[in-house]
Amino acid sequence: MIDTYKHKGLRKNLINELREKGITDYKILEAFDAIPRHYFLDTVFEQQAYSNIAFQIGAGQTISHPFTVAFQTSLLGIKKSDSVLEIGTGSGFQTCILCELGAKVVSIERQRELFIKAKEMLRFFKFTPRLIYGDGYKGQESLGPYDKILVTCGAPFIPEDLKKQLKIGGIMVIPVGDRDKQKMLRLTKINQNEYIEESYGDFSFVPMLERTNHIIG
Ligand code: SAH
Repeated sequence: MIDTYKHKGLRKNLINELREKGITDYKILEAFDAIPRHYFLDTVFEQQAYSNIAFQIGAGQTISHPFTVAFQTSLLGIKKSDSVLEIGTGSGFQTCILCELGAKVVSIERQRELFIKAKEMLRFFKFTPRLIYGDGYKGQESLGPYDKILVTCGAPFIPEDLKKQLKIGGIMVIPVGDRDKQKMLRLTKINQNEYIEESYGDFSFVPMLERTNHIIG
């Protein structure tokens, strides 16, 4: 994998675009600079890796728009050493951004092909999150509770298990809606059964699908 001056230049432009769209946290912008997005895409798409668009990553899934990744990350307010549960590892790009910010990440993916590819990518970057092949609806109770939970696929509802696995004071960011359109919700858990819910506009994610087996890799 090669990171040329051209790639670096395109990355700077993307970072400026993210800043113009309201991403002001310099740590997030620095993380976007540190993780070359084109490594996560097929070489045919490489030239467009720094455009603000989503791409196929195999198994009918897409890597999220850079703005979406940056926006969800900023809603979470990631602090160094936060424990973060991510649902939908996909390409592993968002996982790398979280790791680069110093979070301790557990990430679940239900497509085996993507889980295997993402494992290689994370190893390449020398990050050490716990990657799990399984069903994100169930979360991963044994490694929780978590400071932050991030769902990167469109959920039909907020899964109870994920709510339970969030620490009091913790934040969950989850797009909730139907197949075409979801509202970006931020939940802050204020006590065992109470949450503050804020809504941040419409997005369009690939759907969160159910799966039964749960194998730790
Ligand atoms: N964060 C990813 C986004 C990938 S798209 C990235 O940066 O590339 C969303 C991912 O969620 C897809 O890979 C899809 O397979 C996965 N997904 C869908 N339903 C799921 C579920 N129930 N559990 C875990 N992953 C799921």
